[in-house]
Amino acid sequence: MPDTGIAIPAGLTSDLAIVSIDSTIVDVPTVRRHKLSQTSVTAQSYVIVELRLANGAEGIGEAATLGGPRWSEESVEAIKANIDAYLAPALIGLRADRPAAAGARMDAAAKRNNAAKAAIETAIFDALGRTLGVPAALLLGGVVRDRVPVLWTLASGDPGQEIEEAEGKLEARLHDTFKVKIGALTPDTDLARLRRLAAALGGRARLIVDANQAWDETTALRCLPVLADLGVALVEQPVPAWNIAALVRLRARAAVPLLADECVFTAHDMLAVAAAGAADAVSLKLVKHGGLLGLRQVASVAEAAGIGLYGGCLLESSIGAAAHLHAFAGLRELAWGCEHFGPQILTDDLVTEPLRFEEFRVHLPDGPGLGVTLDRGKLRRYARN
Ligand SMILES: [Mg+2]
Repeated sequence: MPDTGIAIPAGLTSDLAIVSIDSTIVDVPTVRRHKLSQTSVTAQSYVIVELRLANGAEGIGEAATLGGPRWSEESVEAIKANIDAYLAPALIGLRADRPAAAGARMDAAAKRNNAAKAAIETAIFDALGRTLGVPAALLLGGVVRDRVPVLWTLASGDPGQEIEEAEGKLEARLHDTFKVKIGALTPDTDLARLRRLAAALGGRARLIVDANQAWDETTALRCLPVLADLGVALVEQPVPAWNIAALVRLRARAAVPLLADECVFTAHDMLAVAAAGAADAVSLKLVKHGGLLGLRQVASVAEAAGIGLYGGCLLESSIGAAAHLHAFAGLRELAWGCEHFGPQILTDDLVTEPLRFEEFRVHLPDGPGLGVTLDRGKLRRYARN
C-alpha cells in the first residue's frame, strides 16, 4: 500500500478493513414482459453483493443484467463466479475508505467485468457511508439535486397496451416521458406503432426511442426523419455499438438528437465518441462504467465535450437505482433526467423502504450510505438455488 503521508488513527484503520464479500443471484418477476431488440424478460436477474467491515458495518450493491449475456457480455452466473473467485479475494483486508484503490485492485484482478466491479464498489460506498454516518452522495462531492425526473419505458410491443400503460402513468403523475423500445419488430411495424403512440400521447407526454443497436445505417437513415416528424425527442443507439462512423453521418443528417448507450462503456469510449462528434447525449450506467467513480469519470468527459447527460438504467431494483441516484445527485447538469423506473416494474422490492416516486420524479433516499436497507427475507425468497 503506498504511503499517503496522512496519519490515520490505528483504530479507524483496522476497523475499516473489508472482512467479507458475499454474492447472491436473485430472480425477481416483472409485472409484464419487457421486450428489447435482442432479448425479452419476465423476471429480472441481479447479483446482490453484501460486504462487511471489521467494524461491523455492512454495505450492499447490485449488478443488473438483462436476459443473460445478451445486452452486454456479463451474465449473473459469470458475475457471481468472477466476484467469488477473483474480485472479492483481491479486496479482503483493504480499507473501505479507499474506493479508488479498490478499483485499481479490481482492474488488476479482472479485465472489464464492469457490472461485477460496480456492485462491489457500490457496497464499499454504502459500508463507508454507514460507518461515517453520511450519504454516498456526500462522499462523491455532495448533492446538487435530491430528486430526478424519471421516465417510463414502453416495451410490450403492443401499442394498445402501451397507450393504456402510459395513460395510467400520466394519470398517477408518475411519468410524463416515455421511452419506446423498438427493434424487436420490423422497422415499418415499429414506425406504425410509434405513429399510434404519438397520436394518442402527443402534447401530453414526451416520447423517446431506443433501438438497442437493431438498425443498420440505411434503415436508420430512412427511419430517423419519420421519428423527427413524429416529435420524438431523442433516439438511443440506433445502430450497432461498433459503428461510431455511422452515428456521425446520421447525426449530421438527422433532425433528432442521438443518445449513445452501448457504444460508451469506458471514459476512453466516451472520449472517442466525443472526438468523433457521434452523439448529442450519453446514457450513464453503473453496469457499463464499473462503479460510481467510473460513472462520474465518463460524465466528466461528456461534460467537457458539451455532451448532455442521461441517467440510464438496466432495470435495477431499488438497490441499484439508489446507487445511481447518489451518482447522479452531484452532477451539475443532468439535462435528460433518468430512467430509474426499475423498482416499479418488479412485482416485489428487495429493500425495506421502497424508493419514492411522485410528481414525475424519483427521490434520492435519505440516510447514510445508499439510504436503502436490504430485506434479507426477500433476498432469501428470490435467491436462485
Ligand atoms: Mg439503451
